[in-house]
Amino acid sequence: MEDIRFTPGLLPPEAEALRAEVRTFIADHLKGYPGVKRAKSWSGADPEFSKAMGARGWIGMTWPTEYGGGGRSFLERYVVLEEMLAAGAPVSAHWVADRQSGPLLLKFGTEDQRRKYIPAITRGESYFCIGMSEPNSGSDLASIRTRAEKTADGWRINGQKIWTSKAHTAHHMIALVRTRPQDPKDRHAGLSQFLIDMKETKGVTIRPIRNMAGEQMFNEVFFEDAEVPADALVGTEGGGWGQVTTELAFERSGPERYLSSYQLLFELVREIGADAGPAEAAGIGRLAAHLSTLRQMSISIATMLERGETPNLAAAIVKELGVAYEQDMPGKAHDIAGISPRTGGGDFDQVMAYMTMAARSFSLRGGTREIMRGIIARGLGLR
Ligand SMILES: Cc1cc2nc3c(=O)[nH]c(=O)nc-3n(C[C@H](O)[C@H](O)[C@H](O)COP(=O)(O)OP(=O)(O)OC[C@H]3O[C@@H](n4cnc5c(N)ncnc54)[C@H](O)[C@@H]3O)c2cc1C
Repeated sequence: MEDIRFTPGLLPPEAEALRAEVRTFIADHLKGYPGVKRAKSWSGADPEFSKAMGARGWIGMTWPTEYGGGGRSFLERYVVLEEMLAAGAPVSAHWVADRQSGPLLLKFGTEDQRRKYIPAITRGESYFCIGMSEPNSGSDLASIRTRAEKTADGWRINGQKIWTSKAHTAHHMIALVRTRPQDPKDRHAGLSQFLIDMKETKGVTIRPIRNMAGEQMFNEVFFEDAEVPADALVGTEGGGWGQVTTELAFERSGPERYLSSYQLLFELVREIGADAGPAEAAGIGRLAAHLSTLRQMSISIATMLERGETPNLAAAIVKELGVAYEQDMPGKAHDIAGISPRTGGGDFDQVMAYMTMAARSFSLRGGTREIMRGIIARGLGLR
């Protein structure tokens, strides 16, 4: 059984000092930005906003300065993320690159790959998408069938990915594919990761999937004899499983896993205002207390990352508790305000209507609740 400890942590003064700076930046850049756009949280995109964040050194904040990173602490990064998420800032263009593709390349990439790709990410000019899920291979990721075959100059990729968020705007995908036939004795062997140029590679077709809220958020991506160069391989051929599990740990550890519905809480408090009756005040108080506990747990994870630890189990627990919280928010807001979701109307109505549709998906992305509970159970020695 793994040791689970959420050591209460305080953000150090240099991290707190950053908060005012970030708030001023947000106030300057998002003046008049409507609530319903803020509700998109880390799904809302604005390339100019990403570039402005890059110029401030707020992308790749913890990465080495020699590649354009900020060389700052995980706790400073936590403050920037928290403020951006609380404001509903449009951070999604660079989000995946900052959260996981950049760290993956720094850990497993070659020196050439780091020098080629990392600086543009930190400038907020290069966006990545995640090519893991396939039709019939989501939770059981090891069953993927997209394959890459060795050619004289590199690799030829055939197959299909699905639910690929932002594939239509990303410059690159990091795709998990099979480079050797599946070995029934070791399902995780023979997988590899490739960095695919989404704009230049011939044989890549991106087809949009519209979600319930009418947005083109994710896509199907088809590979038909898509040729990539030899240096598109990331890390070790056949060692993709170990790499992808590291990437998933980056994907699951951040405060976005409980702050996606924050705009609705904000609008709820505005809607109820200072006239809250005892029941409404108690309902909002419960939501605020829960949020505060999740925040402490999340700060504790940032503290562990800063100490060089890999808190995968703790991150799975925060993701599991966090998505339950953010997914329940529309129902709780309805109970407290006594208003059904409806389109039109003021900010509260619009945000409520959007979140009611969007929140359904929160427990799926990045690994479903059942999968997270399986990881937690294993960590606790229960399976
Ligand atoms: C908004 C959103 C964005 C996404 N973005 C991306 C992306 O950018 N890139 C990408 O690769 N993927 C992306 N995904 C896909 C996501 O990772 C998968 O949907 C998820 O892993 C579940 O896989 P699945 O949809 O195939 O469902 P399945 O794996 O078929 O699961 C169906 C149900 O069965 C349950 N289940 C499955 N296996 C088990 C088990 N062993 N024990 C208990 N219960 C189980 C699941 O919990 C779920 O409830 C995104 C999904 C969403 C909703």
